Amino acid sequence: MDELQELYREVILDHNRKPRNFGELPGANHVIDAVNPLCGDKLTLYVNVADGRVEDIRFKGTGCAISVASSSLMTERVKGQTVGESLALFEKVHDLLTGAVEEPPEDLDKLAALAGVREYPTRVKCASLAWHALKAAVTEHDDAPVTTE
Ligand code: ZN
Repeated sequence: MDELQELYREVILDHNRKPRNFGELPGANHVIDAVNPLCGDKLTLYVNVADGRVEDIRFKGTGCAISVASSSLMTERVKGQTVGESLALFEKVHDLLTGAVEEPPEDLDKLAALAGVREYPTRVKCASLAWHALKAAVTEHDDAPVTTE
């Protein structure tokens, strides 16, 4: 098993077992429902954006290990970041998941583990679901639901 696959396994297991920032966020100014019908992943993302920054972020939902772990990793990483930084991160993760870039950029840190999902193409949408919800939360104004289809 190469390094990336090992990291993938470790990080996904850890974040699936103990999801960070799990639960509702009372007073969130963006609430996004997201579904991945292909796998049955469902999540609700609660984001509080203030002064152009992700002040707080939480999620709840049910789904496969990859969708839960990716949501957990995403919330852990973007909490406290600016909207611009969050969107830049979305692009990097998106490029990584879709194979647009081969090697994970170094600043992705733990998120590089998500590259492991490329070995399982049907799971890419599981991993990207939370990130699409994040993008919707910080860019859309009507908080329309997100679906991978
Ligand atoms: Zn899934």
